[in-house]
Amino acid sequence: MGKLRPLLPYFRPYRGRITLGILAIVIAALFGLVTPQIIGRAIDDLKDQISSDALLRYGLLLVGVTLVQGVFSFAQRMILVTTSRRIEEDLRDDFHGHLQRLHLGWFQSTPTGDLMARATNDLQAVRMIAGPAIMYGTNTIVVATGALIFMFHIHVGLTLVALCSLPLVAVVTKIFGERIHVLFEAVQGQFSDLSAKVQENLAGVRVVRAYVQEEPERRAFAQLNHGYVERNRDLIKWNAAFRPLIQATIGLGFATVLGFGGKLILDGAITVGEFVTFQLFLGKLVWPMVAIGWVINLAQRAAASMGRIQQVFDATPEIVDGPEVRPEIDHLDGAISFRDLEFRYPGAERPALSGVDLRIAAGETLAIVGRTGSGKSTLLSLVPRLLEPAAGQLFVDDIEIHRVPLATLRHSMAVVPQETFLFSTTLRENIAFGVEGATDEAIGQAASLAGLDSDLSAFPSGLDTVVGERGITLSGGQKQRVALARALLRDPQILILDDCLSAVDAQTEETILRNLRLVFPGRTVLLASHRIAAARLCDRVAVLDDGAIEALGTHDQLVARGGIYADLHHRQQLEEQLAAV
Ligand code: ATP
Ligand code: MG
Repeated sequence: MGKLRPLLPYFRPYRGRITLGILAIVIAALFGLVTPQIIGRAIDDLKDQISSDALLRYGLLLVGVTLVQGVFSFAQRMILVTTSRRIEEDLRDDFHGHLQRLHLGWFQSTPTGDLMARATNDLQAVRMIAGPAIMYGTNTIVVATGALIFMFHIHVGLTLVALCSLPLVAVVTKIFGERIHVLFEAVQGQFSDLSAKVQENLAGVRVVRAYVQEEPERRAFAQLNHGYVERNRDLIKWNAAFRPLIQATIGLGFATVLGFGGKLILDGAITVGEFVTFQLFLGKLVWPMVAIGWVINLAQRAAASMGRIQQVFDATPEIVDGPEVRPEIDHLDGAISFRDLEFRYPGAERPALSGVDLRIAAGETLAIVGRTGSGKSTLLSLVPRLLEPAAGQLFVDDIEIHRVPLATLRHSMAVVPQETFLFSTTLRENIAFGVEGATDEAIGQAASLAGLDSDLSAFPSGLDTVVGERGITLSGGQKQRVALARALLRDPQILILDDCLSAVDAQTEETILRNLRLVFPGRTVLLASHRIAAARLCDRVAVLDDGAIEALGTHDQLVARGGIYADLHHRQQLEEQLAAV
């Protein structure tokens, strides 16, 4: 239960409302305790002589009491359930806010589906403790105490007899509740497997069709689907057994009370009216007994869920401004230097980069060329600190990178990652992402520089075309160019382009490269590419091989020198000549 402690601060702002809600529960419960007594008294009163006056009086009294009880029941729900939703809202906002601050590496080691489950199911379970658990818990305490006091007042022996079966109700609820919960989790788990399968199948529809895997896919789905029904069957079995069992336990209690109570009436120890009142109170005790078991289960679930949510809150954002940061730095000129830099991915055996010594002057453009897996993307990710460089190995404007405020660092640069990501909104909003108040003119110009003009005129609504989930309605090359336009619009001091034209045909690439040449002056540009055409645009070229710099120089120098770059150059020349034939 200690796991629920982190939830306390979330209750604090709503203390007043919660107190009010609890007050409403108490009033409703107290009024509920009055009805059995009115009925009992009416029976005793009307037993000998029935007058319409008395009937009316008791009738009105009952209606009045029930009305007040109803109003306060309504109020209690309105107040407490709304409050629990508010608490859920605050918690969810904090959860999402915290996710926004965590670094990239954390997400790579945490499955998205798992995070979604914590943000939905677990939050829901925690909410239950805030609303329903408080509501039923308080109600149980007030009703049970009140009813027992009145029952003892009527007849102590009879109350003790009645009490024998009640704890059984709580025990049965607790046992069944636990079992039902476990089975319910299994059903939920199977359902998320099923959804994941469908989601993957739909997302990968091209691959499935191309590899003629419809039938195996259908079989795999059918198996999961059947498993879902099987899991549900177990759940139904326990659910179905639960009610009759509770009713039987309760029935047993009522039967003993009926036998013993009947004898007490015959002996004249209690009146018929008192007996009826007693039975009604007994009836009122049943729900609180069921509720005790239920509330305990709710609390256990909430504690487990809060534990899972807390694990995420406990993850500390690793890439943040440290104590060494110099807040006065609010501008960068764009010089970048790597000094004997080594980088190793967590858990990797070999470093992805080692001994990288590289000095890029402000305003210089540098191409990074190398075989696939040679470390180009890794190198580029270090500059905006998407990956964390070790201390003393990376400098911007000759300042150790950790001293530069993250916000300044990232605002000074625009990154076009190798894997483009578009949001499911319009092209305009995708391009203007992160730039507030961008004018149509600026957006159009960025799109134009990224070579999107002819595509835009072909789209039905131009810049207002919605691109679908992750930009599904665009071609690979179009997506890359939208991502490029997004970076260009930011007008950054440092431009980082990670193989951002790999899906564009040679001719379009040439157009864009020509445009980029207009954009490059005055900025530091790091451009990773497999293509010589892009590399030769840059002032210098660094050739990466197996995480180390193999050669550094101008295009002409490297071609003259021989080695990886010259090989690549000759091969691509040959390809061009062949294509031209
Ligand atoms: P490409 O031309 O295919 O884009 P690249 O030069 O950009 O390749 P990197 O992505 O930098 O290569 O990868 C360099 C090395 O680091 C590779 O051996 C790769 O397997 C490894 N690597 C990349 N990302 C991770 C990661 N998140 N965790 C562990 N290792 C990684
Ligand atoms: Mg790469």
